[in-house]
Amino acid sequence: MRYLILSDIHANLQALDAVLGGAGAAGYDRVVVLGDLVGYGGDPEAVVKRVMSLDPVAIVRGNHDKVAAGIEDSSGFNVIARRAAQWTRHALGAETLQYLAALPAGPAALDQSVLICHGSPSDEDLYIFHDRDAVRALTAAERPVTLFGHTHLPIAVRLAEGTLELVARATEPETRIVFEPDINYLVNPGSVGQPRDGDPRAAFAILDTDDRAIVLCRVAYPVAEAQARILEAGLPPSLAHRLSVGR
Ligand code: ZN
Repeated sequence: MRYLILSDIHANLQALDAVLGGAGAAGYDRVVVLGDLVGYGGDPEAVVKRVMSLDPVAIVRGNHDKVAAGIEDSSGFNVIARRAAQWTRHALGAETLQYLAALPAGPAALDQSVLICHGSPSDEDLYIFHDRDAVRALTAAERPVTLFGHTHLPIAVRLAEGTLELVARATEPETRIVFEPDINYLVNPGSVGQPRDGDPRAAFAILDTDDRAIVLCRVAYPVAEAQARILEAGLPPSLAHRLSVGR
């Protein structure tokens, strides 16, 4: 089975469509979404509708989905994220709001060997930035492969005989990782709609469970169009600017 792995789309329709075009050429069977469909970007309604039409086989909610859906207040957000969340809530229709509100909390099992979550398996809102959090997640992992999002940084690490090893960062258009037996892996496909690793290209991954491999991918998209949508919506201009620098 080949899965298209999408995370942190953040209402960026132009990036999502570029990813679907690129991934469509590579071929996949089903879609998996690691949360944060909305927030920051200018097309929340269209993005949620697009995700609904993809009929994901597995999906978990992100912190921005919770706030947009009204499940959680925005007290944990900075001023800019809060403004975007308020705008997003009003830009969504009843059907899409309901879809976001019903998204399950992670973690969720994709199959016998793959777990998905937004932040970390133990806490959907925790950012795995530091080695100690990666080691904790890998040590407690119930499955050999854990897919996560939330940090917007594409990366793969693994725990081999108690030592944390960097496997890859997604700097090339395609970075292929083959999972070795008896080693636990933690993989972030990166963010579709708001990359933060200094590379403005949209990030996603293709997981092939038959080959026991994942390919981290980058694809260029019309950044200026996504920026125009943010500015047209009256959202903070910094949200548009950051897309061109990938920060
Ligand atoms: Zn996010």
